[in-house]
Amino acid sequence: MTRILFWLALVLLVVFAIRSKIRSLQQRQQQRQQSNPFTPPGRVAELPDAELMLCCAHCGVYYPASENVQAKGHDYCSHAHATL
Ligand SMILES: [Zn+2]
Repeated sequence: MTRILFWLALVLLVVFAIRSKIRSLQQRQQQRQQSNPFTPPGRVAELPDAELMLCCAHCGVYYPASENVQAKGHDYCSHAHATL
């Protein structure tokens, strides 16, 4: 009888250990997904600091919209290219 109780307790211990290990792995995976900007396929990645990029009408270089110079209805990367 003592042997049966011993084996029962051992099996229960192993089951609880496996369950807690699986739970901690799931929590770690969720934390990794929240901190990782690269999301799995099918989900849209949210980039908090992404800035709109514009194409210069003179040289074709892409630059941040905050550095935009508008002239004659076109967008330019610098004042030098806007005046050319
Ligand atoms: Zn340019």
